[in-house]
Amino acid sequence: MGESVDLEVRAHTALHVVKGAVRKVLGAKWTASTYVKGGHGRLTVQFDRKPTEDELREIERLSNLKVEENVPVKVVEMDRDEAERVFGDEMYDLFPIPSHVRRLSIVVIEDWNINACNKKHTRTTGEIGRIQLRKVRFRRSKRLLEISFDIVE
Ligand SMILES: [Zn+2]
Repeated sequence: MGESVDLEVRAHTALHVVKGAVRKVLGAKWTASTYVKGGHGRLTVQFDRKPTEDELREIERLSNLKVEENVPVKVVEMDRDEAERVFGDEMYDLFPIPSHVRRLSIVVIEDWNINACNKKHTRTTGEIGRIQLRKVRFRRSKRLLEISFDIVE
């Protein structure tokens, strides 16, 4: 147990991987909220419809492909102004980081996901383990799509 990477760290890192897949498959840009407990995670993004079964399968497939590729999860510390020049608003979520915060930790999974995030992450995507999508809920009135998943192994 001592050598294994913490399950919640893996599930949190999975949020970045799943978001990358959601961005590619659905084009959904803005994360509204995230939740992690144990090996369970939930990503909530702004979106305007319920995804099809095919789209959900593709999100799961691409997420696990990224895990299998075992690419680095890089963390770059940068001044906020510089980070905004380099990454634009792609690194932000729907709810803004307070303006007094001038230095950011940017998590970069190359060609996949860029997100200002100061939580703990695995060093590579391979450490996450297999991601299985669970419940998906679309809240039409709020235009929010919730995608739940588990780390299964
Ligand atoms: Zn993170």
